[in-house]
Amino acid sequence: MSGCSLLSVVLDEDRSFSVSDYEGARARWCPGCGDHSVLAATQRLLADEQLAPERTVFVSGIGCSSRFPHYLNTYGFHGIHGRALPLATGVKLQRPDLDVFVVMGDGDCVSIGAAHWVHAIRYNVNMVALLLDNEVYGLTKKQTSPTTPQGYSTNTQPHGTYLPAMNPLETTLGVTNASFVAQTAEWVPQHLFATIKAAYRHRGFSFVRILQRCPHYTEDLFLPFVQDPTRVELLEHEDGIVVPDLHSRFENQRHHDPADIDGARRLAETGDQIRLGLFFRDETHPRYDETRTLSAHTAEEKLSLLNEELDRYAV
Ligand code: SF4
Repeated sequence: MSGCSLLSVVLDEDRSFSVSDYEGARARWCPGCGDHSVLAATQRLLADEQLAPERTVFVSGIGCSSRFPHYLNTYGFHGIHGRALPLATGVKLQRPDLDVFVVMGDGDCVSIGAAHWVHAIRYNVNMVALLLDNEVYGLTKKQTSPTTPQGYSTNTQPHGTYLPAMNPLETTLGVTNASFVAQTAEWVPQHLFATIKAAYRHRGFSFVRILQRCPHYTEDLFLPFVQDPTRVELLEHEDGIVVPDLHSRFENQRHHDPADIDGARRLAETGDQIRLGLFFRDETHPRYDETRTLSAHTAEEKLSLLNEELDRYAV
């Protein structure tokens, strides 16, 4: 568990929280790392939604961004590589009253954790999954990740990454029962905050890909999009991510109804532009956490039911 003086908390309906109430240890990411921006937006969300720290859990895997739980004054679980999603699923199924957030890097989620990622989408358990995608393994000093652009030089493939990059949006939108898929960028803080907030409000598995700069190893990767806003297209819809102030900054906007899964899949395709917004949302999809009834039983009743189930297989 990450540091959090929760035992001394007195449950009090009248408590109110400010951003500083969620601040944990001092973040040790590189100066200018996009992770700082995501952390700030997340702390702002927690205060905005007035989430009680002792009822909020952040689960991460391994990678630069996976230090996230240490920097928040909530419960946290800095897990093992690629396993953040099953850990978080276990937490949520056992304690549906908690708000659960998952923080993963591209290596963590799209590579070693890919099988868990696919099934977490399908299980559609009510939690927020943040993919901080800097398109490289930063913690292991610039190794190729599954989302590294083809031809990009890394320390493991210095003559250029061999294979085309995986597109996490296309993958997520291709999985049965996907219910919330969005993309944002950490250098657009208003959009980042609005997207995380919409993800939190969604009832089901919310997948948010956050394009994240790694100035230490891949400063050039997102620079063209940061410097030239015409290479960014905002997805616009009254049911989408609504940030009115952004219209003057990003002249390219596209109307997209997030109920349209076929349109979402087409828009997820990679081109010269990046698209920010809500690609898809459907709250009618079945959720695995709603199919379970065991949590309504006492510990003794659960044990009895388990024994009864196991006895069915006795030979
Ligand atoms: Fe951030 Fe890159 Fe530094 Fe890791 S190596 S903390 S991703 S800037």
